[in-house]
Amino acid sequence: MKYAVKKYNMIERNNRIAIALSGGKDSTALTFALKKLYGKRRDVEFFAITVDEGIAGYRPPTVEIAKKITSNLEMEHIVVSFRDEFGMELDEIVRKGKKKPCTYCGVFRKYLLNRTAREMGATKLATGHNLDDETQTILLNFLQGDIERLARLIPQRVQEDLIMRIKPFREVYEKEVVLYCLLNDIDVDMEECPYSQFPVRAAVRDFLYDFENRYPGRKYSVMRSFEALQDCFKAIFPQKDLTRCRICGEPTPKDMCQTCILKRELGLIDID
Ligand code: SF4
Repeated sequence: MKYAVKKYNMIERNNRIAIALSGGKDSTALTFALKKLYGKRRDVEFFAITVDEGIAGYRPPTVEIAKKITSNLEMEHIVVSFRDEFGMELDEIVRKGKKKPCTYCGVFRKYLLNRTAREMGATKLATGHNLDDETQTILLNFLQGDIERLARLIPQRVQEDLIMRIKPFREVYEKEVVLYCLLNDIDVDMEECPYSQFPVRAAVRDFLYDFENRYPGRKYSVMRSFEALQDCFKAIFPQKDLTRCRICGEPTPKDMCQTCILKRELGLIDID
């Protein structure tokens, strides 16, 4: 992890880093590792944000894990919830809405993480994405021909009010994260979200596992190839300038942000 942190300048002087801590294995291991490796630095601060989407049976145990690890590490921890922010848990949203659960969940969670991190004075937002996640996303976008989405994986420049994301585990295999949890006696919850349905991603994941087993190191090859092409992606799809959502004022490339569009669809706000 230290290699990637240094290579991509993820942790710099006077950074206040928010960790997106779901309480799943990756984000819990990341919280532990960041505190252990960089917690003694006086010029860097960490705190954690947990978003409780309201998924019965799945989220409550991981919220407890998040509370426990931050308490053990003596780290500031904020829990925000869909219920408090949107007046509804994800389970209710899913019953009411017409879109897939992950559409609401992903958009609302990103909104809450960014806004909370900003309000808490964060300069960066760290997520637990590992090498397996990253290479699956890269290959998936290639296979689906979605190069614009692929280009969005590359942070191009800082935009006002949008907290820059960092992924310190992006060069760490998923199995290494699991091993790290076992070796450090970190509580993990391996349950899968009941709404998780990604058949194409699962096929890409299985292909990469199999390929890596037969030809070790190929996940790194995918990552290096992607990095070698980054300048092309940036030239074809330069990062869009952001404006302000006319409803909530959050940064967005359009007139209205995705969060307000979904809130309107759910009848949570009344606008034309
Ligand atoms: S699988 Fe979908 S619904 Fe479940 S936590 Fe992830 S984004 Fe949310």
